[in-house]
Amino acid sequence: MADRKPFVGGNWKMNLNATEAEQLVSALTTTLGDVSAEVAICPPFPYLASLGRQLSAAGSAIKLGAQDVYYQSNGAFTGEVSVAQLKDVGVQVVLTGHSERRHVIGESDVLINAKTRAVLDAGLEVILCIGEKIEQREAGQTDAINAGQLGYGLAGVTAAQMERVTIAYEPVWAIGTGKTATPADAQAAHAAIRKTLAFLYDEKVAAATRIQYGGSVKANNAAELFAQPDIDGGLIGGASLKTDDFTAIVQAAG
Ligand code: PEP
Repeated sequence: MADRKPFVGGNWKMNLNATEAEQLVSALTTTLGDVSAEVAICPPFPYLASLGRQLSAAGSAIKLGAQDVYYQSNGAFTGEVSVAQLKDVGVQVVLTGHSERRHVIGESDVLINAKTRAVLDAGLEVILCIGEKIEQREAGQTDAINAGQLGYGLAGVTAAQMERVTIAYEPVWAIGTGKTATPADAQAAHAAIRKTLAFLYDEKVAAATRIQYGGSVKANNAAELFAQPDIDGGLIGGASLKTDDFTAIVQAAG
């Protein structure tokens, strides 16, 4: 994991009710009190404000994350939420380009780039998610797909802003399926992503940028994945909804 501080995110997706969300945060503030890895949780929008208050009241270092954002700053965009509004309720980090937004909701690379830049321009952190579909992997296109999504997603992002960018490599076929990339396959993809970052920026930016692995990370496979030299933590879906599992995963990261 080189000397990059490991970073583990919990993507709750469209799960939990208000009480369950509060109980999960309450448990995590205790179990994750003394871990050295950086941790973020990304609850559904309606719970961000109250969970943000709960995290502050507990003096927790867990970062508050949002699963999505819109790139415009205000106006007639029914149903959308701006970066300023997220910032207002204590959000520190925002996911962009998650595969469910790319492939279920239909977001384009152009939209993902606009969202990424809006978050960074407002001073928040981004976790930019990239990854190939199964047919692309089988056609040997994994590295090309990742390079393309990086190039589009990071267009206009400066080297200085890259200090607030984490990349999450999440092969689409591994998300929520119970199938995980082997540590060797994940490492190979991460190394190629780091090379692309060196091409887009320079070696210094590439070496400093954290690259999380995501896709059915569980308590029993996290340590092996996180032991790979270019894997700097994970983005966790299903297992982030369970205190014991998420805690064990974060502990495996450092
Ligand atoms: C995710 O939501 O980004 C994810 C990786 O989900 P899961 O861990 O459930 O595969």
